[in-house]
Amino acid sequence: MMKANSVLRGKIYRLLQFIVVACVFIIPFIKTSNGNSLFRFDVSTLHLYAFNQVVDFASFFSAFIAILLFTFLFIFTTQLLGRVWCGWLCPQSFFAIRIESYAKKIKNKTIKHIAEIFLAAVFALLLTLIWMMYFVSPYDFIDTLKNSHLTLIIGIVLFLFIFVDFAFVRFKWCKYICPYSKFQVVMTDDDTLYVGMIPGKESQCIDCKACLRVCPTHIDPRKNPDADCIYCETCVTACNKIFQKKENTHGILGYVWGKQDKLNLKRPNLIVTFIVSITLFFVLIYSILSTSDPVVISFSNDIKSLGNGVYTCNVEIKNNLDKPVRVRFNNPDNLAEIKPEIMRVYIQSTKTETITINTTGNIPDGKLVIEAHYNRHGHPLTYEINLK
Ligand code: SF4
Ligand code: SF4
Repeated sequence: MMKANSVLRGKIYRLLQFIVVACVFIIPFIKTSNGNSLFRFDVSTLHLYAFNQVVDFASFFSAFIAILLFTFLFIFTTQLLGRVWCGWLCPQSFFAIRIESYAKKIKNKTIKHIAEIFLAAVFALLLTLIWMMYFVSPYDFIDTLKNSHLTLIIGIVLFLFIFVDFAFVRFKWCKYICPYSKFQVVMTDDDTLYVGMIPGKESQCIDCKACLRVCPTHIDPRKNPDADCIYCETCVTACNKIFQKKENTHGILGYVWGKQDKLNLKRPNLIVTFIVSITLFFVLIYSILSTSDPVVISFSNDIKSLGNGVYTCNVEIKNNLDKPVRVRFNNPDNLAEIKPEIMRVYIQSTKTETITINTTGNIPDGKLVIEAHYNRHGHPLTYEINLK
């Protein structure tokens, strides 16, 4: 029975492999109803063709490179400095440490718990408001909350999530849940910086366990490197206090450069991530410079009226792309005809032409909106010219 099952399984996975390999070979040749490939990233136009959809990747290219750069910088930093993000920069740790250190001054357990809940609520509310303002303009924030139930619900859910984290989870998040910390742990190696016993000082430990009592992730700092250490340095401070009282010297815990306690920059993984990060940095700079404002259009302020609602105006088009562009003008409200409707500009060149604007309706406040389309799939550039 077992043998029959494994034979069947073998046939299924070979069939699946065959289907996947066949798809890999066939997909670039399949065309959809709009004539494009079923799935293909066209390098020459930076267009992603996917199931009848065309995504203009030119506008995302810099963002994509920036994400890659941050990813490699994150890997490089973690390989060299370990979980410094967690202890030094992470807002979650920042607030969790504050809540614990403020509340620990209160001796009564019930009042201490109430204080923790209160602080968690205040910090959660502050963080929720700030995070939401990255997605909703701070200047229209109250109006948006009043008018959009969805935004309000998202805000309430976000607040509850952060509140529960700050009030009840705190460092358990770092230890058991945070996906970022899991990634960091697998990237460290034997030479990565860690917080722990300074080599050679082991014999000076008086086993007071002050460091263990303050460690938020409940590990023994003397036995680091431990994957659960978040580099908060609370143990270092506790040990320093013990030794200052005892001998007026520094404690025996601190930062240690890996198992050899020696900064080692000649590690293949570190060198590779550094080179990739530097390369990505220059690619990002190049892509920003080369893709910023691919087509720049400017209308002159010197607009002449020829009477009967007809105007002339000079327009300059600068084409920064490595291909000719065809710019088509129109008024989205059909209040004016623009002649010539289409202007062609060669590769990397500038063209100036006088256009005629023939208004066919009442232009509110004399302000006419003109759309300039140069990319079949992208949004038009929008301008407002004053005909008064
Ligand atoms: S071992 Fe020290 S640095 Fe690491 S989490 Fe515990 S207290 Fe913080
Ligand atoms: S606080 Fe310092 S002396 Fe006390 S147990 Fe920890 S490492 Fe040893």
